[in-house]
Amino acid sequence: MRILILSDIHANLEALDACLAAAPEYDAVYNLGDIVGYGANPNETTQRSRELGSVFVRGNHDKVCSGVSTLEGFNPIAALAVIWTQEQLTSEHLHFLHGMPRGPLTPIENLEIVHGSPRDEDEYLLYPRDAFSILARTAAPLIFFGHTHVQGGYWIDDARENEGVIQPQYSGAGNGKVQLDLKREAKYLINPGSVGQPRDGDPRAAFALYDTEQNSVTFYRVPYDIETAQQKIFDAGLPERLAIRLAEGR
Ligand code: ZN
Repeated sequence: MRILILSDIHANLEALDACLAAAPEYDAVYNLGDIVGYGANPNETTQRSRELGSVFVRGNHDKVCSGVSTLEGFNPIAALAVIWTQEQLTSEHLHFLHGMPRGPLTPIENLEIVHGSPRDEDEYLLYPRDAFSILARTAAPLIFFGHTHVQGGYWIDDARENEGVIQPQYSGAGNGKVQLDLKREAKYLINPGSVGQPRDGDPRAAFALYDTEQNSVTFYRVPYDIETAQQKIFDAGLPERLAIRLAEGR
C-alpha cells in the first residue's frame, strides 16, 4: 500500500493543489491535522481533505477553530487568524473539524499517526532528546507526526544503540524528492513537513509518501503559486505576516 501523508495544510489551497498534482499514485491519504488556520481558504482545504480520505487526527488549529478548545496559548497573529477562520467556515465544515479524532491513531499495524507527539497531541517535537525518549518507549516502529512544520524526523536503532536526525537534502529548486529506506531493526518518528506553511527555511510545499511494501518513506518538496496565496491573505484582511512568511518558509 502507498500512503500519502499530508500535514499542516493551514487553509493554503494553492499549496495543497500543487502537492496533489505532484504526488505519485497512492492508495490512501493520512492527514495529520491543522487543515485550517493562517491561510485564506479554510472551506476549500477542508472540502478537499474530506474528499481525499478518511484517516485524520486533529491539530490544535482544527480544535480551536471548531470550538473544541480555547485560544489560550495562541499568539495574537494566530488568534486573529482563528477568529477570521471561524467566521468563514460553513457549519458543515465546522462540524467535521469538531469531530476530528485525537491522536495517536493506529490506522494500520505498526504505524501511528499524531499531530504533535504520541504522549500529547499538542506537543512540539522540536528537540532530538524528546524524540529519542519517545522512540525508546514506543512499541510502534513508525510514527508520523506534524505540528512543527519541519520536514524530516528522528530514528533510533535499539540493537546498536544508534540514533539520528533525518533532514532530507534536495538538489535544485524545482520539484524535489528524497527517498528514505527504513531499516527493519529501527524505529522512526517522521514529519512529512507542512503543506501550507513550511518553517524549515524551504518555502516549497511539503508532503511524504509511505510505501509499505518497499518499506520506504519518500519526502517531497513542490513549488507552488505563493503570490496568489499571499494575495488572498492580504485581500482577506488577515495579518500580513502570515503572507510574508510563506515566501520565507519560516
Ligand atoms: Zn500547524
